[in-house]
Amino acid sequence: MNMLETENVDLTKRRILIIDDNPSIHEDYQKILVGQSDSMEIDAEMSEFFGESLPPEPKSQSLQTLQVASAFQGQEGVDMVSAAISQGNPFAMAFVDMRMPPGWDGLKTIEEVWKVAPDLQVVICTAYSDNTWEEVSQRLGQKDNLLILKKPFDSVEVFQLAVALTEKWDLAKKARLTQQELEQLVEERTAQLQQAALHDPLTNLANRNKFNDRLDAALKRCKRGDIGAGVILIDVDFFKQINDTKGHAVGDQLLVQVAQRLTECVRETDTVARLGGDEFAIIQSEVKEPESARIVLERIHNAISQPYQLDGEDYHCGFSVGIAMAPTDGIEAEDLLQKADLALYQAKEDGRGIFRFYDTDIEARVRKTREVEKGLHRAIAEKEFELYYQPIISTETQETCGMEALIRWIHPQHGLISPADFIPVAEKTRLIIPLGQWVIQQACSDAMDWPDNIRIAINISAVQFEKPNFLFDAVITALKQTGLSPYRLELEITESVLLHENDNAFSILRLLQEKGVRIVLDDFGTGYSSLSYLRSFSFNKLKLDRSFIHELSDSEESQAILRAVAGLGQSFAMETTAEGVENEWQLERVQLEGFSQVQGFLYGKPLPAEKTLDLFQCQNDDKTD
Ligand code: C2E
Ligand code: MG
Ligand code: MG
Repeated sequence: MNMLETENVDLTKRRILIIDDNPSIHEDYQKILVGQSDSMEIDAEMSEFFGESLPPEPKSQSLQTLQVASAFQGQEGVDMVSAAISQGNPFAMAFVDMRMPPGWDGLKTIEEVWKVAPDLQVVICTAYSDNTWEEVSQRLGQKDNLLILKKPFDSVEVFQLAVALTEKWDLAKKARLTQQELEQLVEERTAQLQQAALHDPLTNLANRNKFNDRLDAALKRCKRGDIGAGVILIDVDFFKQINDTKGHAVGDQLLVQVAQRLTECVRETDTVARLGGDEFAIIQSEVKEPESARIVLERIHNAISQPYQLDGEDYHCGFSVGIAMAPTDGIEAEDLLQKADLALYQAKEDGRGIFRFYDTDIEARVRKTREVEKGLHRAIAEKEFELYYQPIISTETQETCGMEALIRWIHPQHGLISPADFIPVAEKTRLIIPLGQWVIQQACSDAMDWPDNIRIAINISAVQFEKPNFLFDAVITALKQTGLSPYRLELEITESVLLHENDNAFSILRLLQEKGVRIVLDDFGTGYSSLSYLRSFSFNKLKLDRSFIHELSDSEESQAILRAVAGLGQSFAMETTAEGVENEWQLERVQLEGFSQVQGFLYGKPLPAEKTLDLFQCQNDDKTD
């Protein structure tokens, strides 16, 4: 706000007050300062005060702008000064006579005038020498807005004083206004900076700084008494996708609405913060019993899972929530936050859209996953992987007809790590893409050492289909570089690849199939097992998941499953493999139902590449015997 504008003071109009008991003196001042009188002759009385000097000609423009008002007693002068201030048109200066019987003298008048207008410029006019400068300044203080003018006056001197002092008053006023304006600006800006330093500009929630302060305070209270606190971390599921597909403005709208709903779910003493991106946090202070945290969570869950109005449309959004409680899980802010974060991580791992309370199992699990995550980056750079191969046996000939490549991580400290422990992490971090590429290249190359009738089966993760051209190129390049016939290559995919009706995945698989590559549906029976896949894509083979073989019993039901899968294979002209065959009894059952192939420990565990050659050697030896 501009103070200069709002006060609306017309600064060109300088106002002067004459306080003098002698009426004729007022006329003289008028003549000198305003020049309204036609005759500039000096009358007898005037000459008494102004000596022989003549008032200047009233021609100057600046002269015309001076306004002169009259008071004949000190009290009247003070009243006029204060009335002028309240009308917003204050006097800039006053000429005050020293002696004004019967009322106040000049000194008393000035004292009173300054009480209402401390900045008023004053000229004290005296014809007597009873008050010396020292006496005056002792009484009134050493002020820079006080001058003494001795009678008789010089009219030019009076005029110059009037112009100079009103100008000085004017400048001082302007300076004061500018300063006030600056101070106000600084005040406003400081408030803005304070707000910015502690709040998120988009949602107006507390930011990380304020959140940390409030958490410290809540935990201090916990330490003092038997009251608890909770830290709730909330993440919008797939927020990046919302931003990418609907645009940042819509993403922002969502965040603002989430912020509002969260704020409505908690008490005033709780803190809702946005820690960054799509990450929200709540400090639930003064929790008397853990159950109350659960109640709040349910309230939050109900509020945020209602549809959002985004760009005129209803939008459903999922959230993952992690909670840690003080003092049970920790009493130091950093520790508690870390634990809430672990719980959040676990909520995401467990499928999102859910909430998880921290517990020590979570800690162990998540730490392990994070360790694997870190290790994987290094392992890829250092080539710490090796392919093992497990034979696939034809039930008709009892001979090996293929080998499945199964990756192993040879960890420098922990030794051999099984794929179940790192493939999910590699998928999550997308490291499966370079890793999968290496597997394809290496397996095709190893297969070139085997007899021509042995196929090589390679597992392909759903994540590798996120960049289907990448997969296609990797396969074609590997075939070209190693010289492997595409007819010897099998790609094993699971239902998850086909879950999202991924047209791209289907078309890449078809292209590869046209080139002779065989496409196998792995782990059949564990996913949704929607038979519609079988209609929309002609798989070359179905591999029944090993859990069915493991749980195989004499019961009619378990036999019926085997029969149904083998029957599907025959009807759709697909080969069928039974995985996980560990004993003769299982083999018999599988053979009986008509599976074309088996795979399992009964025939051999996965072997390192160099040992596979012995296998084929034995097979050859058996034949020649
Ligand atoms: P999968 O493709 O179903 O592989 C078969 C798994 O069953 C292998 O486990 C194998 O060692 C195991 N297995 C085979 N016969 C028997 C048996 O008779 N009894 C028992 N109990 N288990 C048997 P492995 O090597 O631990 O691999 C586990 C999974 O990891 C694989 O399941 C596959 O989904 C994945 N995987 C392995 N290598 C790769 C790879 O290079 N890329 C991708 N994307 N996934 C891979
Ligand atoms: Mg497999
Ligand atoms: Mg399998």
